[in-house]
Amino acid sequence: MLHDIQAAVSMQALDKRALELTREIAMLPKHVAEIERKLESHERKLAADKAALAANQRERKTREGEIQTQEQKISKLRDQSLQVKTNDQYRAFQHEIEFCQNEIRKAEDRILDLMGESETLTANVTVAESALKAERAQVEAEKKVARERTDQDKAALAELEKQREELRISMTSAIYTTYEKLRRTRAGVAITEAVDGRCLACNIAIRLQYLQELKRQDSVQCCENCGRILVYNPPVSFEGLTGASASAHPAA
Ligand SMILES: [Zn+2]
Repeated sequence: MLHDIQAAVSMQALDKRALELTREIAMLPKHVAEIERKLESHERKLAADKAALAANQRERKTREGEIQTQEQKISKLRDQSLQVKTNDQYRAFQHEIEFCQNEIRKAEDRILDLMGESETLTANVTVAESALKAERAQVEAEKKVARERTDQDKAALAELEKQREELRISMTSAIYTTYEKLRRTRAGVAITEAVDGRCLACNIAIRLQYLQELKRQDSVQCCENCGRILVYNPPVSFEGLTGASASAHPAA
């Protein structure tokens, strides 16, 4: 097989892997941002529950204070009612005492409601706190993995670029130019196989005479339909040709 064809096949495998690595490097910060956003929303929810619990406890104290005030008032009114001269005056005091007792009942009812609400809020806060602790640890672990993965990807990418440069230097410059032009215009697939008399990329049937020329493999031939460089029955698979470089990075 012509060296140029073999080099182009290897280069395409390198370029494919480089594209995957580049995409992964771009995707990792997005993933980190997403898990951080989720964590922040859970932290905001916990902060809101804690604020509601604090407000609940403040109101409970206020109501308890009100009860105390009303009780002191009642005790004072009772003392005063002992000094009264007429039934009308006595009834007026009684009326006032009843009003205070009513206020106490209202405050007690409200305290019972607050206690019920506080139970739910406390349970929510407890659950959220322990869930958040686990989530924070998980986020940190994932961020570490993402950082390590990015470093690995960048190192692998640098290695691929080195290999690619070696290949580029070894290729006929016109062939490399053709390869590059095709790679940019044919969705990264510049070189393809002729399988069962067809171009594997565009599936057009290859003329018999053209196929005979292709079999000789003594020149670089392009598909008459899609223009891609054609390889006839490559001796090894695309992956096999670049085995070491293509699998330099551990599989995900
Ligand atoms: Zn084709």
